[in-house]
Amino acid sequence: MPIATVNPATGETLETFQPLTPAEIERRLAAADAAYADHRLTDFAERARLLNRAADLLEEDVPFVARTMTTEMGKPVKAARAEAAKCVKAMRWYAEHAEALLADEHPAPADVADSGASRAVVRYRPIGAVLAVMPWNFPLWQVVRFAAPALMAGNVGLLKHASNVPQTALYLEDLFLRAGFPHGCFQTLLVGSGAVEGILRDGRVAAATLTGSEPAGQSVASVSGHEIKKTVLELGGSDPYLVLPSADIERAATVAVTARVQNNGQSCIAAKRFIVHADVYDAFRDRFVAGMRELTVGDPMNEDTDVGPLSSEQGRTDLEELVDDALNHGATALCGGQRPKEQERGWYYSPTVLADVTPQMRIHLEEAFGPVATLYRVANLNEAVELANTTPFGLSSNVWTRDDDEMARCARDIQAGGVFFNGMTASHPGLPFGGVKRSGYGRELSGHGIREFCNMTTVWYGP
Ligand code: NAP
Repeated sequence: MPIATVNPATGETLETFQPLTPAEIERRLAAADAAYADHRLTDFAERARLLNRAADLLEEDVPFVARTMTTEMGKPVKAARAEAAKCVKAMRWYAEHAEALLADEHPAPADVADSGASRAVVRYRPIGAVLAVMPWNFPLWQVVRFAAPALMAGNVGLLKHASNVPQTALYLEDLFLRAGFPHGCFQTLLVGSGAVEGILRDGRVAAATLTGSEPAGQSVASVSGHEIKKTVLELGGSDPYLVLPSADIERAATVAVTARVQNNGQSCIAAKRFIVHADVYDAFRDRFVAGMRELTVGDPMNEDTDVGPLSSEQGRTDLEELVDDALNHGATALCGGQRPKEQERGWYYSPTVLADVTPQMRIHLEEAFGPVATLYRVANLNEAVELANTTPFGLSSNVWTRDDDEMARCARDIQAGGVFFNGMTASHPGLPFGGVKRSGYGRELSGHGIREFCNMTTVWYGP
């Protein structure tokens, strides 16, 4: 894939970039190594000062960087501003909390004595340069939720961003430099995915985190496995959204629309499969479909646009094929099911709700990466949970109910990294984020996220 900014609202190529040469990659790896030697010795106060400075600069840049993101990948500009603001918040959160999250741990005195030590502590030390292979869908947030904890832990970052968001990638390197992080602490590598393996095998790279598709995850994980390097994988999702009889149906339907079409439907944690109890199915369906129909589809730079184009022509083709396959096998489009007629150019797709979905259809098991919802009717909670788990993915889940027993059952039995009751899944700095099954492994954010890329060291003092 060429490294280029191509505006998804028009299909126009605005700027192309040359990938780094092997010599340039080598220079950056050497710079990361040298920067790590110093950065690992800095104290938390100094790292927090720099990260807070980066947050302040980003806050000033919100309008600019939001427009850059929208131009590169098509998200509505108001959502792009919200994404940038969320990054500011996460940077400040890690600047404030990292020291406490990585404080020494003291094993129980009986266990220390049992080990024959006079004392023992568990210390979280940095591990080195971490390669971050990142996707285009939240081009700022995905990177910041890796970079903020990594830099606070004393690691350094190497970013291989998706090839369609090079300007956002370069902005991020510039941001950390302007904030005062020494050269080499955070670098953007403008390279294609073919260069990842060589970088990952380099001895100066300690670990990798990848957010993206399953094939990319498999590739990075297998190279890392061969090199015995730690990885965190944040992959796809097809989150269930259960609506049970005691739910506030009006609210469940309103939130369902946002949960499905956020980021033009291209979010790993978007609710994608709507599983509704028969007693409230009709009421939910009518409100949900009405909400999807009312969305404003159009130029993502317009303040009143709810749904912009998909990020690439291929992305739209993939989605169209998934919907067409379902329609050809008997699904019913309650709205959408095709390109909008109003947009003559750009990679738009109409907000779509599909009913009568069966296991014979690809969309039953595959991730729909765009504004397309599948709607299922179930007879009881058992059926709902079973259907929720009928997916290779396990990122997050949403359940609407006021019944405590139903909540307990879902929190126990839904196979996912998150269960969100009476609200939609979102990531928050202080809460762990990640999945199970083919959605990946490891966690980002919170104390769990920052510790993923630390050397948890047992320090033992003899008698
Ligand atoms: P993608 O094609 O896998 O790309 C993601 C990144 O991986 C890009 O930087 C890409 O580089 C790189 N890449 C692709 N193939 C690679 C390979 N074989 N080896 C090494 N790197 C490789 O994914 P996408 O289509 O951009 O993103 C959408 C997917 O990401 C969806 O499945 C979505 O659910 C998932 N996602 C997950 C999360 C989460 O937190 N779990 C968050 C957001 C998105 P190039 O651009 O140069 O190809």
